[in-house]
Amino acid sequence: MEKLIINAAVTGSRNLRDIAPYIPYTPEEIVQSSIECWKAGAAIVHIHVRDPETGLGEQDPELFRQVVEPLREQTDVIVNLTTSGIAGRNLPMADRLKSLELKPDMASFDAGSINLGGGVFINPPDFLDLAAGQMKRLKVKPEIEVFDSGMITTALAMKKKGQLEDPMYFQFVLGTPSGAVATPQSLLHLTELIPEGSIWSVTGMGKAHLPMSMMALAMGGHIRLGMEDNLYYERGVLAKTNAQFVERIVRISEEYGRGIASPDEARKILGLPI
Ligand code: ZN
Repeated sequence: MEKLIINAAVTGSRNLRDIAPYIPYTPEEIVQSSIECWKAGAAIVHIHVRDPETGLGEQDPELFRQVVEPLREQTDVIVNLTTSGIAGRNLPMADRLKSLELKPDMASFDAGSINLGGGVFINPPDFLDLAAGQMKRLKVKPEIEVFDSGMITTALAMKKKGQLEDPMYFQFVLGTPSGAVATPQSLLHLTELIPEGSIWSVTGMGKAHLPMSMMALAMGGHIRLGMEDNLYYERGVLAKTNAQFVERIVRISEEYGRGIASPDEARKILGLPI
């Protein structure tokens, strides 16, 4: 079976320290946590940035630069920047895409809108057209985030029009309050909808995280993990670092007999330049 790609989503933009005391806020903390994950076996880091004081999500290219540059200098990790914008603030579309100018290897491409966190995570067709166009021009691979099956329909229609290219990389984000449920049946259904030769990865929110990871391990998919999606290492016990999650999956996967992809091996699998 193909080696396992671990994608560490170290902070996200929603969980604050009142419920997540160990979550990284500042660029330095995000870099530190990303490097720990990379050392533990993560091939990809999925990066959001936050206001260093308040911890609220930001989309400021300068904050992204303060994360990307040290990661480029100190690691060979695949850098994946979010384009999700800021919850509750309707940012101009172009501002959501400014981080692409830092030339990350990948960027999130949320293939549709959905109710999330008490509001609407807005990804209308004109934003998707703009995002796909810029990613193609800047050679940034879209991480096609799928919260529900209709987002696959959208991505496939865009592929037909030449806006998205093979091999497509799908990130299933399961178990959000208004999205597809995080069950084996749900995951199986989604994997049946994507084209052959695509690469898929899955994350489950909260307590669904480990069950979805085990499904991916057995089915030949890949795994996203980290405090963006799940704060608890086990029932009632907060994870103190993101690397703890990586270390656990590395242990289980190696015991299972599936090796862990290095960043370069992951680049090959994903069709990224080495
Ligand atoms: Zn994210």
